[in-house]
Amino acid sequence: TCKQYLTGPIETTLCDYETVESVNDELYDQLHSLVETPFFRYFRADLYRDCPFWQENAFCMNRECGITTVDESEIPAKWRAAELSKVEMPPEDERTRLPGCYYRDSDYCFLDDMTEGDYIDLALNPERFTGYVGPSAHRVWSSIYSENCFGLSEMNLLSGKSSDPAPVSMPGSMTEVLSEDEAESPKDCLEQRVYYKIISGLHASISTHVCRETMNQTTGEWGPDLQCFINRVASYPERLQYIYFDTVLLLRAVARLGPYLSAYDYCGTDAHEGEAETLERLKKVIGIAQAVGKFDETVLFRGENANILREEFKEHFRNVSRIMDCVGCDKCRLWGKVQTTGLATALKVIFELDEKALDPQANQNLLQRSEVVALVNTLHRFSESLAAVDDFRKMWAEADALEEARLLEG
Ligand code: FAD
Repeated sequence: TCKQYLTGPIETTLCDYETVESVNDELYDQLHSLVETPFFRYFRADLYRDCPFWQENAFCMNRECGITTVDESEIPAKWRAAELSKVEMPPEDERTRLPGCYYRDSDYCFLDDMTEGDYIDLALNPERFTGYVGPSAHRVWSSIYSENCFGLSEMNLLSGKSSDPAPVSMPGSMTEVLSEDEAESPKDCLEQRVYYKIISGLHASISTHVCRETMNQTTGEWGPDLQCFINRVASYPERLQYIYFDTVLLLRAVARLGPYLSAYDYCGTDAHEGEAETLERLKKVIGIAQAVGKFDETVLFRGENANILREEFKEHFRNVSRIMDCVGCDKCRLWGKVQTTGLATALKVIFELDEKALDPQANQNLLQRSEVVALVNTLHRFSESLAAVDDFRKMWAEADALEEARLLEG
């Protein structure tokens, strides 16, 4: 339960809960400042694409669902679409000359077209309660979880067809579609369980943010809602565990990317504004990631069907990124896109790229700016969730102490 601290090893990693907790204050401090810097706060996303899987008419009328965009003229020229399209996509023949045969085939998500969409200042559009609830939200989650079904699309893979998610029925509640026991039964292969943990961890982290900053419908005031957190996350210890699991996964990617991220160009202006500070903070995050990000990818995708399974895993995760276009609330869609891109970037770095590919000298354009921004912001989201878990534990302890005192008095 929320009262107990999680202890011991985190499955599929060489790390334990206590170690993650011991570094999270420092990690969160660094990330929190980092995501305020110009490089990391602007994200380009196309939030107006149609849902490719079903007719999505949901339109969140709540003010909190809306986002404010930034005029492109406010963005340093170097990061604007026109400049990016010149730099980021090397010509076709150059792609084949990059070390290894990596490029877009290795992606775990569909990145929005860089020439469309708006710039959004992430720092001005925090992920928190928006009032997006009901069948539309449930349908999206249900569809994401239904991607957790492996082994069926082998034929599609062999014939080169993609496995689009089947249209899903409208569930009254998620449990009608997939119970958590069913979703993560021990008979499933390790890869399937890992997929489930990644998604469930993301879901739990989003729920934690919703409960951490909720608007009291009667008073209109914002604040944490302990009962909301208990109902959605703490009553299911495994959901809490998967927030840690995703954090270690993201840290592992940042650790592997250490030299690449240290050599990245964070300068948006000729004046090199804020570049040194950004790099300094990032190096501290990389240091923590190298000490703690011990995800053990060697246990995955082994054996006879390893390649088929890996392709399938990738295909399913790509579908999740497309399902984000079905989220019926702009702010939720934005953060859904940021975080699925962040997780997809981590998966690519962990499962697809070797040391040669990650060499910043050899492969300068390996990651697009939006991938780097998404990775760091997603890690920040998870680290913030862990900080919130700690706050909720304290609130719980205080509530308990008050209750005890009340009982003694009575
Ligand atoms: P939901 O969170 O919708 O969950 C549906 C069902 O899934 C539950 O009944 C339960 O059976 C199961 N479930 C819940 N959590 C887990 C888990 N961790 N692992 C496995 N199963 C689980 N709302 C906001 O207010 N702000 C946001 O920023 C926001 N972002 C969103 C982003 C995306 C991509 C999506 C799909 C939704 C987002 N929402 C957001 C909506 C929010 O996630 C919930 O759907 C909404 O608050 C309704 O919550 P609920 O209690 O009905 O259950």
